[in-house]
Amino acid sequence: MKKYDVIVIGGSAAGATSAITARRHNPDKSVLVVRQEKQVPIPCGIPYIFGTLGSASKNIVPDAMLEKEGVELLISEARKIEPAKNKVIVDGVELEYDKLVIATVSMPGSLPVSGVDQDGVYHILKDIPYLEALQERLKTARDVVVIGCGFIGIEFADEIKKNHGENVNVTVIEIAPYCLSAAYDEEFCLEMQNFIKARGVDIKTNSKVASIRGSGKVEAVDLGEGESIPADVVILGVGAVPNVALAKDAGIKLATSGAIEVDRSMKTSIDNIFACGDCAEKISFFGGRSCPLRLASIATQEARIAGANLFNIWREHAGTVGVWSTAVGSLAMGTAGLTESAAKKAGYDCISVVVEGPNRHPGVMPGAAPTKLKLVFEKTTGVILGGQVRGNESAGEIINIVAACIQKRMYADDIATFQMGTHPALTASPITYQLVNAAELAVAKMKNT
Ligand SMILES: Cc1cc2nc3c(=O)[nH]c(=O)nc-3n(C[C@H](O)[C@H](O)[C@H](O)COP(=O)(O)OP(=O)(O)OC[C@H]3O[C@@H](n4cnc5c(N)ncnc54)[C@H](O)[C@@H]3O)c2cc1C
Repeated sequence: MKKYDVIVIGGSAAGATSAITARRHNPDKSVLVVRQEKQVPIPCGIPYIFGTLGSASKNIVPDAMLEKEGVELLISEARKIEPAKNKVIVDGVELEYDKLVIATVSMPGSLPVSGVDQDGVYHILKDIPYLEALQERLKTARDVVVIGCGFIGIEFADEIKKNHGENVNVTVIEIAPYCLSAAYDEEFCLEMQNFIKARGVDIKTNSKVASIRGSGKVEAVDLGEGESIPADVVILGVGAVPNVALAKDAGIKLATSGAIEVDRSMKTSIDNIFACGDCAEKISFFGGRSCPLRLASIATQEARIAGANLFNIWREHAGTVGVWSTAVGSLAMGTAGLTESAAKKAGYDCISVVVEGPNRHPGVMPGAAPTKLKLVFEKTTGVILGGQVRGNESAGEIINIVAACIQKRMYADDIATFQMGTHPALTASPITYQLVNAAELAVAKMKNT
């Protein structure tokens, strides 16, 4: 039986990153990644296959990064883990490990309605042949219905509309009052929603799917009370469910959410087995409750903790802050930590500040876009709780700076006196730099109320 110091099951965001991290910290150890697909799609790039990229083959995680770090790769399915013997059974072959990392995906969520299994209904699988089949199907589609108006739903809807134009009607159905409402305050949601609608996508909010109609092949999505939307393709963008079958079967403890329970070092209930990524439980940075977010950025952060801790625990997870961005055409939005409405719901006494200005100076510089930043602070302490940004592509990095402030529990005053670098072609003006300005206004607001 072949033995490795480290075996990682799963070869996408979490699996690849934990394997690379393990090798970087332990160059003398042998590390094997077991992954079931020949090629792994870049998960976050999947919506762009259907428009901007034009093909699934342009959206592949390069295996060269594993080779470069000396990580071995085995394309095979792990069938069973035997913790008592430190063994993984991989398509009939037994492999022995000293440390094991489980990074085995989330599966796309589904809907508890009739008709979801019909021909023409697509769950978003991270599987190249499946995505290619969907792309082929879209070539002849007239009516596409996307269910779920989170970031996956809006990115899919917009890319399909962009690619197929007048040939296709694209409708998004959302049960909540606005798109993206789990992650942004109302004013941001409405801006994105109106922007997408102006690009030709119909969005039906406050709408619950009653059933997916058809006789084997999808024909329509029924919303109840007689309302029905014709559909020859339905795409479900309704969240993700941790894939824990292997772990459960091996007797590894699951959290009440159904994900694999891990401690702050990313260790599971079995001492030499770690888990990270979408299959692992997430604990919120705010208050330590279970957190439903599933993101590639979270997966890789957890993988850097798990990979580094395998032979000597020295990194701890501070809790999931929740940072991500999305882009539709020229409009980008980012969110980090708590929205104002989520902070109030969680019981924080908070204040918020909104500033808006160009992200270049002067504002007529090429690449300039009006950039709006909202910051939320705990009123009693002045500690930052969250932020949201709307602008152009610079929004993605602005929100990452906000996330760093949150993770370091910075005070409004620290951020107001933050030492930033600026340049006319690259950033907002030093006088109106949104992050610093918003914090300064918050300091004044807290002093004066
Ligand atoms: C359409 C879409 C867009 C997204 N956009 C973003 C975004 O913009 N930003 C962001 O942060 N997140 C985004 N996400 C979320 C992100 O894709 C996931 O959070 C991320 O992929 C999780 O990484 P992971 O490694 O845990 O799981 P996965 O990426 O699902 O990979 C799991 C791996 O495990 C392998 N595996 C599973 N079981 C076995 C087995 N038994 N044997 C061998 N191998 C196995 C799989 O084959 C795969 O290689 C998006 C998701 C989707 C679907």
